[in-house]
Amino acid sequence: MILLDGKKTSEAIQQEIADEVAEIKANGGKVPHLAAILVGNDGGSVTYVTNKVLACERVGFGSSLIRYEDDVTEEELLAKIKELNESEVVDGFIVQLPLPKHINTQKVLEAVDPKKDVDGFHPANVGRMVAGLTSFLPATPYGILQLIERYGIETNGKHCVVIGRSNIVGSPMSILMAKAAYPGNATVTLCHRNTVDLAYHTRQADIIIAAVGIPGLITADMVKEGAVVIDVGTTRVPDATRKSGYRLRGDVDFDNVAPKCSYITPVPGGVGPLTIAMLLKNTLRAARKEVYA
Ligand code: ADP
Repeated sequence: MILLDGKKTSEAIQQEIADEVAEIKANGGKVPHLAAILVGNDGGSVTYVTNKVLACERVGFGSSLIRYEDDVTEEELLAKIKELNESEVVDGFIVQLPLPKHINTQKVLEAVDPKKDVDGFHPANVGRMVAGLTSFLPATPYGILQLIERYGIETNGKHCVVIGRSNIVGSPMSILMAKAAYPGNATVTLCHRNTVDLAYHTRQADIIIAAVGIPGLITADMVKEGAVVIDVGTTRVPDATRKSGYRLRGDVDFDNVAPKCSYITPVPGGVGPLTIAMLLKNTLRAARKEVYA
C-alpha cells in the first residue's frame, strides 16, 4: 500500500511554480497576479482565502484581497468583477463561495471573464472541458489528476467509480477520467445519492474517487483488493482531544480500507493540500495565456 502524499506533491508543484516565476522575473516579464473577492466573515472562507493569498506570496505572485461586508449588493460585486476583468495587472481572480443568499451566485460566476476564471467555474470553461478543449480545470479535479500522474497510476481501461456529482468535484472528475488522454481512458461509473446499490459498483472499481461528505461511507467490504482509493471528503467531526475541538474525516474508513489498497490518499494530507497548488498553477497558465491562446 502506497500513501498518495498530497502535501509533498503540493510542495513540489509550488516549487516548480516558484522557479517559473523567478525565471519570468529574471527575464523582465510580468509577475502573475491573483485577486480574491471575499464577502463576509465566515471563519472557513476567511481561512481559505488567507491561505490562498499567503501561497501567492510564497511562489512570488502578486495578490490582492478584496473584502466586502455581508450586506454588499450584487451591483457592487458585479462592478468589481468588471474592473478585475479589465485590469491589466490581474491575470486571474476568484470569488470565494458561498456568497450571501441575496446574491445570485450563478450570475456572479458568469460575470467573470472566462480567461481570468482560475477557479474554472464559468460555464465557458466547463463547456470547454467537456468538449476536450484547453480550459481552466477546477482545483480539486486538477489536483487529483496531478496525484494520479505524478505517482504514475495506470488509468487506461480501468474501471473508475466516482461517488458524488457536484459541479466542482464529482461531475468534472467523471468527465476527465473518461477523456481520451492520460490520466483518463477509464471506464467511468458516476454514483450519487440516488444510486441504488453503491457497494455493488465500488466493489468492481479499480479506482474509487469519493467526493460525498459522509465520513466513513466507504468501508472495507466495498473495496476490491488492490484498488486505488482517492478520498476527497473532509468533514469536521467533533474531537475533544484536539485543541480546535474537531478533526477532519474523509469519506473512506481509512484504517480498514487502506490495507486492501494499492494506493490511497490520507485525510488530511491527501487531495486537500493540492487545491491551492492548482489554483496557483491556473493563475500561472492565465498569465501565460496558455488556455485561451
Ligand atoms: P463536494 O463539494 O465535495 O463535491 P457536495 O456536497 O456538493 O460535495 O456533493 C455531495 C455529493 O454526494 C452529491 O452529488 C450527492 O449526490 C452525493 N451523495 C450524497 N449522499 C450520498 C450517498 N449516500 N451515496 C452516494 N452519493 C451520495
